Amino acid sequence: MTRAGKIAIVGRPNVGKSTLLNALLGERLAIVSPKPQTTRDRILGILTRGDAQLLLLDTPGLHAPKTRLGHHMNAVSRETIEGSDVVVLVTEPDVGVGDIEKKVLEAAGDRPILLALNKIDRLKDKTKLLPILQGIGEAHTFTAIVPISGLRNNGLDRLLKEIEERLPEAEHPHAKDELTDRPVRFLIAELVREQILLRAWQEVPHGVAVVIERFDEEKSLVRITATIHVPKETHKRILIGKAGSFLSSVGKAAREEAQKLLGRKVHLELWIRVTPDWYDKDDLLREVGYR
Ligand code: GDP
Ligand code: MG
Repeated sequence: MTRAGKIAIVGRPNVGKSTLLNALLGERLAIVSPKPQTTRDRILGILTRGDAQLLLLDTPGLHAPKTRLGHHMNAVSRETIEGSDVVVLVTEPDVGVGDIEKKVLEAAGDRPILLALNKIDRLKDKTKLLPILQGIGEAHTFTAIVPISGLRNNGLDRLLKEIEERLPEAEHPHAKDELTDRPVRFLIAELVREQILLRAWQEVPHGVAVVIERFDEEKSLVRITATIHVPKETHKRILIGKAGSFLSSVGKAAREEAQKLLGRKVHLELWIRVTPDWYDKDDLLREVGYR
């Protein structure tokens, strides 16, 4: 008998969902950034452990929607929960179970819902952990509460076991060595976006969309051209930098990451375009892969 199923990893921005997904997969798949909301859409990570195949879905952070992109992100999270077999709700000691977490509990319906209390490595006083766990357990009905640290790889084995026990019996939909079903183009666009966010998250908060215009595999290298859409002319100037220094450092780092991902030489060309309100434009959102 084999088991397989979809696991929605949900929670507020910045609680460590992407870090957890990467730690579970042992690969760098989703963006990890010190700034909230860097993961805008679902990412399927596939993890095969013995008889169980876990299809892990990372989701954008749940938050109060202000723009169409915000609405879209919440809708994606809700849809992801509804399409899943097991829900992993990530939170951290300082956040606990608030309004957003209660909404997830509701949305989960009859599905098993595991509360992953992340970042426990931050608790200086370890004796505080037990009362926190008890407090949550008394106030809310979670299938299980698992203290973890995605960053330090603590508690992940127990979390995986709790998930596996609740997966339905099913054939494995993917081969054992598959890691993701995301198109390579999408992953490359994410690499570029990550390098920008790592360098300019204060100046250009969430305001970038990366579209891969060209992806040509030649004999000895892959030629990639990407357009970076920003809402304002000032953003464009920041991203170009003094004598193009910012853009060239983004390009260099993204190219190195892309070479690791593709295992080939990469030629990467980056363009910046001012597209006001791109996050309110349905056609561009679709092009970037948000719908
Ligand atoms: P997401 O928005 O929920 O996907 O959160 P990320 O995975 O991008 O993480 C947000 C921030 O929290 C990053 O700076 C991570 O390094 C940090 N972080 C994630 N997991 C842990 C953890 O277990 N311990 C600590 N101390 N920091 C963590
Ligand atoms: Mg994330």
